[in-house]
Amino acid sequence: MNEMQILDTVIVGGGAAGLTAAQVLGRARRAVTVVDTGAPRNAPAEHMHGYLGHDGLNPAELLALGRREAQAYGVRVLAGAATAVRRDGDLVEVTVGGEVLRARTLLVATGLTDVLPDVPGVAERFGRDAIHCPFCHGYEVRDRPLAVLGGDNPAMSVHQALMIPQWSRDLIFFTNGLEIDGADRARIEARGTRIVDGAVAGLVVDGDALRAVRLADGTEIEREAVFVGPRLVPQDELLLQLGAVRGENGFVPVDPMGGVLPGVWAAGNVVNPMAQVIVAAGAGSTAAAAISAHLLERDIAADLDAAALAR
Ligand SMILES: Cc1cc2nc3c(=O)[nH]c(=O)nc-3n(C[C@H](O)[C@H](O)[C@H](O)COP(=O)(O)OP(=O)(O)OC[C@H]3O[C@@H](n4cnc5c(N)ncnc54)[C@H](O)[C@@H]3O)c2cc1C
Repeated sequence: MNEMQILDTVIVGGGAAGLTAAQVLGRARRAVTVVDTGAPRNAPAEHMHGYLGHDGLNPAELLALGRREAQAYGVRVLAGAATAVRRDGDLVEVTVGGEVLRARTLLVATGLTDVLPDVPGVAERFGRDAIHCPFCHGYEVRDRPLAVLGGDNPAMSVHQALMIPQWSRDLIFFTNGLEIDGADRARIEARGTRIVDGAVAGLVVDGDALRAVRLADGTEIEREAVFVGPRLVPQDELLLQLGAVRGENGFVPVDPMGGVLPGVWAAGNVVNPMAQVIVAAGAGSTAAAAISAHLLERDIAADLDAAALAR
C-alpha cells in the first residue's frame, strides 16, 4: 500500500466480527485493511459450535477461510497490533508497528479477555475440559460427572450451577469461597446440584484429561469437566483512546448499527460480552452496512462539491 493512501476503513481485529465486515466492505469495493494479532478468544477450543453450516469446525479454520475470502475482494490483512489511534480532521490514524494507517472510518473488533479463576490447572485446561459456555461445549460433556467452580464472576457461577443440570444431572458446585445467599442455595439444590463449600486447591489432570477437583484439604473429587466463570474484560483500549467511555456493564455502549463515535464503529465481543461467533459475525456485517452508508454520504457530498466547482 502507498504510505499516503487514505483507506476507506481500517478494521482492527480479524476475528469473526472484523473479517465479516471486511468481506462485506471488500465486496462493496472499498479500500480496507484488517489489522490482526491473530489471537481470537476461542483459540483454545478445537471445535466451534452454534454456527449455522459450520457446526464443529475448528475455529482457526473459520478465520483462515474468512481471511482468504476477504483477501479475494482486495482486502489487505496486516499481521500486527494496533497500539494507538488518533483523529486527524475527518480521518483516523492507526499505528501498527512502524506503519501509520490513515482511513476515513474505523471499525474496532478486538474482542475481550477471559480472566480465569486463579486456580492451578484452569488456564492450562481452558477450552478443553475447563469450559465456560454450555452452549459451546455442554453437549460434548452431556451426562458426564461435571463441576462448576466459583470464581470472580459470581453471577455467572450461580447461573451455571442452575443451568448445567440441563446437560448433566451429575453436577457439583464448588463455591471456592463465593458467598451464596440462601435463596440461590435453595434454587441450586432444588436442581439436584450438590454444593461443596471451601477453597479449591487445583484441578487434577491425568494424561491429557481432567480427572478430579482437589480441595484445599487434599480431598479429590472425580470430575470430567469443570465450568468456570471468567471475568470478561473488553480489549477496548483504542475506543478509550478516542474518548469512548465504558457503561455500567463495563463495556462501551454502541448504537444499533455498532456506532460508537463519529466515524467509529465497534462489533463483537469488544462491546458485547454475550456475542457468540455467529452474533459477532452479524454485528460485523451490520457495522459494515453502516460504514458503507456513511462513506456513501461523504462521497455524495464530495461529488456535489466537485459538481458545484465545475459549474
Ligand atoms: C474457549 C472458548 C470457546 C468458545 N467456543 C465457542 C463456540 O463453540 N461457539 C461460539 O459461537 N462461540 C464460542 N466462543 C465465543 C467466541 O470466542 C466469541 O464469540 C468470538 O471469538 C467473538 O468474535 P470477535 O470477532 O468479537 O472477537 P475475537 O474472535 O476474539 O477476535 C478479535 C481479534 O482481534 C485481535 N486483536 C485484539 N486486539 C488487537 C489489536 N490491538 N490490534 C490488532 N488485533 C487485535 C485478536 O488477536 C483477535 O484475532 C468461545 C469462547 C471461548 C473462550
